[in-house]
Amino acid sequence: MKEKINCPVCGNGKLKPTQVPYEVYGVKLGDFSAHLCNECNEEWFDEKTCKEIEKIEKEKGLFGLSKKSKISYSGNSLIVRIPEQIAKFMHLKKENDIIIHPEGKNKFVVEIEA
Ligand SMILES: [Zn+2]
Repeated sequence: MKEKINCPVCGNGKLKPTQVPYEVYGVKLGDFSAHLCNECNEEWFDEKTCKEIEKIEKEKGLFGLSKKSKISYSGNSLIVRIPEQIAKFMHLKKENDIIIHPEGKNKFVVEIEA
């Protein structure tokens, strides 16, 4: 029996089963079954799907790649240390050319030059 459930976020919308694409760190993991709210468009994955996504993230080495790091000094420059797991995932090497630009006041993006 498929009973429609009210959306826990907006309270008005109905959740309907659907397939949604899911990606993490720019890597597409596939389409997964989810419930989508017809009012606020919030997507919900059930526990089984969450575990499936987590399993794929681990297989692809994408799990837990958000790491804490600290800014330190070297002379007049600031140094950001890149955790080993991220360096491995991105195949970063010493002397890689990079471009850094801010995205607002509390985020910056580092692009690796090809
Ligand atoms: Zn909603």
